[in-house]
Amino acid sequence: MTAHFDLNGFSKRRVMKQTKSNSSGSAFLAAGIETGTITKTVFPVSFPLPENKHTEMPGQHDGRLLPAKPVFENKFLSSLEPSSLLELLPFMERVNLSPNEFIFYPERKVKYIYFPETSVVSEIQILEDGRTLEIAQTGRESVVGLTSVFAVFADPECERAANWSQTVIGGGALKIDIRTLRAQLEKDGFLRETIFEHINSYIRQLSQRVICHSYHSVEERFSSWLLMLYERSRGESLPLTQETMARLLGVHRPSLTHIARRLRERKTIEYTRGRIHLRDREKLEVYSCKCHLH
Ligand SMILES: [Zn+2]
Repeated sequence: MTAHFDLNGFSKRRVMKQTKSNSSGSAFLAAGIETGTITKTVFPVSFPLPENKHTEMPGQHDGRLLPAKPVFENKFLSSLEPSSLLELLPFMERVNLSPNEFIFYPERKVKYIYFPETSVVSEIQILEDGRTLEIAQTGRESVVGLTSVFAVFADPECERAANWSQTVIGGGALKIDIRTLRAQLEKDGFLRETIFEHINSYIRQLSQRVICHSYHSVEERFSSWLLMLYERSRGESLPLTQETMARLLGVHRPSLTHIARRLRERKTIEYTRGRIHLRDREKLEVYSCKCHLH
């Protein structure tokens, strides 16, 4: 890809840095220098972006021309202003999160904040009797680790996770160092505003989960939980064992097996070893508590 635009004000240091950090053939920004126009390709970070997955966004930021804005699967990133992305992307890294991988441990320092794309991450608490319970779920719609960003604001020594966070569906994500994000938040009002909106959604999700765990039956919770997961992963066949599902729902495995069998008899889901398939979304909605809609 080649873009032609004026280099006026485009930091020489930044161009050098971007060139240095280039690692593979994908681009956030295509830029270069040739008699006042930009023709040479420069890749600041490795972002695989298919040719038809970006649009030109005219404008300037700090005297620099804004690059074409990439479209991310992650909705937080795709909602940001090009000027915010321009500052963040050179510090972001694309990673693959394996299924069941722990990314945060309670009381341990949080080093990176994650922006899931195809992965889904569960935040988990352990009950006194040893059972575990998913208290929040985050996929491509938001960010994992937001509360730790603000713990850092309150006390730089408190950048520790409150709970376990574990990948429930493996897949891609982008990550950024928590301190880099914090530094950017201090000077970027739009980024701050966007993060506040996502914190608000996170609190709403926690509140709804409290209601769900307290008042809804296991069958209703299981159905809603599956619908949440199908929505976030955008798949209709998920690699999940009954053991994992029982653990995240805080129920004993035999109870989960009984409910899954009943839902299969009603032709809403199907399961084979290690996978659970959605057969009829509308019918599964009927048996859910609708908490996935909040
Ligand atoms: Zn519910």
